[in-house]
Amino acid sequence: MAAEHLDVVVVGAGLSGIGAAYRLQTEHPGRSYAILEAREALGGTWDLFRYPGIRSDSDMFTLGYPFEPWRDPKSIADGPSILRYITETARQYGIDERIRYGTKVIGAEWSSEDARWTLTLEQGGERRTLTCGFLYCCAGYYNYDEGHTPEFPGADSFAGQLVYPQFWPENLDYAGKRVVVIGSGATAVTLVPAMAEQAELVTMLQRSPTWISPVPGRDKYADRIRELLPPKLAHRVIRTKNILFNVGFYQYCRRRPEAARKLLTGLSTRILKDEKLVAEHFTPSYNPWDQRLCAVPDADFFKAMKKGAAEVVTDHIDSFVPEGIRLASGRVLEADIVVSATGLKLLAFGGISLTVDGAPVDLSDQFVWQGAMLTGVPNFAVCIGYTNASWTLRADLTSRLVCKVLAHMDRRGYRAVVPRPEGHLDERPLLDLASGYIQRSIGDFPRQGDRHPWRVRQNYLLDSATTMRTNLDKTLKPVDRTRALQEV
Ligand SMILES: Cc1cc2nc3c(=O)[nH]c(=O)nc-3n(C[C@H](O)[C@H](O)[C@H](O)COP(=O)(O)OP(=O)(O)OC[C@H]3O[C@@H](n4cnc5c(N)ncnc54)[C@H](O)[C@@H]3O)c2cc1C
Repeated sequence: MAAEHLDVVVVGAGLSGIGAAYRLQTEHPGRSYAILEAREALGGTWDLFRYPGIRSDSDMFTLGYPFEPWRDPKSIADGPSILRYITETARQYGIDERIRYGTKVIGAEWSSEDARWTLTLEQGGERRTLTCGFLYCCAGYYNYDEGHTPEFPGADSFAGQLVYPQFWPENLDYAGKRVVVIGSGATAVTLVPAMAEQAELVTMLQRSPTWISPVPGRDKYADRIRELLPPKLAHRVIRTKNILFNVGFYQYCRRRPEAARKLLTGLSTRILKDEKLVAEHFTPSYNPWDQRLCAVPDADFFKAMKKGAAEVVTDHIDSFVPEGIRLASGRVLEADIVVSATGLKLLAFGGISLTVDGAPVDLSDQFVWQGAMLTGVPNFAVCIGYTNASWTLRADLTSRLVCKVLAHMDRRGYRAVVPRPEGHLDERPLLDLASGYIQRSIGDFPRQGDRHPWRVRQNYLLDSATTMRTNLDKTLKPVDRTRALQEV
């Protein structure tokens, strides 16, 4: 029996996959499509992570979709509210009916002869195939099966419980207990105030400080705009306001790092009222936005410290001991529970192994065009968000670009297209953040080039002005019965 064929397959039913489906069915209602989702639920990140206090650190007017107003009072939202928003959006537009759950894409083979992908799927322990004309990978950027778990010396000797945010034990009781959270990223600064509400003491153990910026959890200007304008218009106005503010603040940090350092340390000092504490634990050696900035809504992290429910220790782990963690300084942090908030394990394109005309694709040999399509891989796009702004800003632009590419193929009568640069490109890593979790695996990802449209710009204003105006004839070349990979 011939395998089922679809015009477009979207991989992943997270925030990006649902947004992609909306764009596809709105702009190409005649095309058949399905979303293939490995898990038994939609929402991706916002369904997987269940640790106390789980929340966004971007505002939801920009992390949410441009086409669906964010109606919740909070601007920085908790995980369950975000999951509800994604679920309701999927239901409202009939996208939920297009999702095939428990369907993991493990391989994708492109044939230039047939101008189609043959996907190998894993469903309930069985393998089957499906073919499609265009493959759009909205599979996020990290491994769902394992996080980054450094080996801690002596961890086996620890008498308490060692837990991981990505696999939070249901009903973990931490009331009245001593908790140590290892890490200093967004997850750690979220967990600390949330657990401090019930724990005896929560200690955040960091190797080195991270830039932390207090932000209002509720946006009073947004509230006022929502009172005055109808929901869709209000959403657009607040979204624009937040985009301008965020781009402006990012540019300020990059262009005036000394002033930005002073501003951030000033904000922390005003709340903590302790210059020495801020100098020791909240003043990194790198500049703001060399790594992702951690936003803390309503300064909850600092407030927990002021109340004495939380503390920060900057030191190195020597080893675990039965009663807790021995530090390089010799101090022992006693703990009943240790949370290893040491980060994600990056994974390119949902771990799907790609082959083009029989040859395996080495992603690190390929360049990304418009942050979306790859050299050497026809009829394929990937959805990657910004690192310095809300993910959805870029994700939605990419979905609109994919729709534009499909319309272009219709107009020109092309069965397959692949982006091809004019002249030599100097290569750079796909993401230029210095964060450890990115540096650890960025070599497995494709490269960006040294100039537009081969650069992955972290600038929504520039991208939104140019992406949809791009001249597709210039870069997107038709592929017909040729060996696409060798043509690059
Ligand atoms: C704790 C946490 C907080 C975050 N907070 C923010 C924030 O405040 N702002 C921000 O901009 N970003 C944030 N991010 C980044 C966040 O992941 C993105 O904002 C967004 O949720 C990504 O959506 P996505 O749909 O692209 O990917 P995901 O949410 O990762 O969803 C990917 C989906 O694809 C499925 N999938 C993967 N591989 C396959 C496969 N081979 N076959 C089938 N299905 C597959 C997965 O099961 C999953 O459902 C955060 C990330 C984490 C982990």
